[in-house]
Amino acid sequence: MAPLHANSLTTRRALLLTMGAASLTACQTTRLLPAQSQRPGLPVQLSPAFFDRSVVGLRPGRIGGFRLATEKLADKLVVHNYGHGGDGYTLSWPCATWAADQISAAQPGSVGIVGAGVSGLTTAWLLARRGIKVTVYSEKFSPDTTSNIAGAIILTGPNYRSGENARVGPSDEAINDSALTGFNPFLTAPRYGVYWIDHIQMRPLQQDNQPPDEAFLGRKVTDKFRTLMVDPNLYLSALMGDLAEMGVNFWSKKFTAREDLALLPHSVLANCSGLGAGLLFGDENMFPIRGQLTLLKPQPEIDYSYISREPGGMLYMFPRRGNIVLGGSHQRGNDKLLPEPAEIDRQLRGHAKLMSNFKGVPRINPTES
Ligand SMILES: Cc1cc2nc3c(=O)[nH]c(=O)nc-3n(C[C@H](O)[C@H](O)[C@H](O)COP(=O)(O)OP(=O)(O)OC[C@H]3O[C@@H](n4cnc5c(N)ncnc54)[C@H](O)[C@@H]3O)c2cc1C
Repeated sequence: MAPLHANSLTTRRALLLTMGAASLTACQTTRLLPAQSQRPGLPVQLSPAFFDRSVVGLRPGRIGGFRLATEKLADKLVVHNYGHGGDGYTLSWPCATWAADQISAAQPGSVGIVGAGVSGLTTAWLLARRGIKVTVYSEKFSPDTTSNIAGAIILTGPNYRSGENARVGPSDEAINDSALTGFNPFLTAPRYGVYWIDHIQMRPLQQDNQPPDEAFLGRKVTDKFRTLMVDPNLYLSALMGDLAEMGVNFWSKKFTAREDLALLPHSVLANCSGLGAGLLFGDENMFPIRGQLTLLKPQPEIDYSYISREPGGMLYMFPRRGNIVLGGSHQRGNDKLLPEPAEIDRQLRGHAKLMSNFKGVPRINPTES
């Protein structure tokens, strides 16, 4: 196993700060690597005929990072699992596993879960598999949650939390270990929309004095590895189908205060309400991080993804089954849900400029990892 290059690590940490996520460590890539793609790759089609729509989601940002904690509410135990920012899919299995372990240890007769995004459904899935009776309560369900908007690529890295918060829950190392393996059961059936892709991270050439070892789309390749891509609409609806088969009930319900929760007929509750936890539990550390995506019509021939740190802001391209996703906007504190035409323009022009330099896709060689 080769050590990480210093410049690659710097890029990963810089990405973590802006995107709320960093990339896989080399050893994880090697261990989990499936057979590599040998195809030369094709460019993404960006002409107006391929434009589908633009969507906005509010990432559940939290000062200090995501919250895993327990507290008492009247006679109930509440297990918190929220505030995952731009990493909710990456953190879904490790955080839900921690929450499910706290809940199982309390040996509840039944559990109420608040929230039907990826955090709530993953927690519900683990509990139901352990034979625990679960009911999911939520204001919104798929396809209307923030989790349906997500990219959603699995990108692991260090420093998910800071301060006191960093001492609670699994270590960053444990998180990185299970972020990908948690999805293993879903790789075999296409209906879950979980699949491997080649991922490339890059930055403009002019930031370096030396010619790059490897270039892609006219940019310096700073890292490349295989990772998982999740198609949220497929994944969340498949999880809900599994849960219904396991006897989980779903109730449409908006809670306006934590006292409402005390009336639920369960001895244990899991709070997986994402950004909603700010109001519901008075968590003043919560804030929205607005992200706008441009969705192009499906292009099934695209089997790679990339993230480029451009001077005008990050640009990324993720190939979901249902759409090509163009993104890269991160507006902290902004909760406006209407798409901005200027951002659509930035993304389309930016990716068109990158694609004008397309000369094939640098494939991942496992021996490099
Ligand atoms: C543009 C964008 C791109 C992203 N890309 C990625 C990515 O590539 N990789 C990645 O890992 N993550 C990504 N994310 C982050 C990821 O989407 C989130 O971290 C994740 O979806 C959070 O899931 P959640 O279940 O905690 O919250 P949500 O999906 O917001 O679910 C919260 C649930 O709680 C319910 N709820 C809230 N308040 C109440 C209430 N008072 N009463 C009843 N119900 C309530 C809601 O209705 C909802 O069902 C992205 C996010 C965005 C917006």
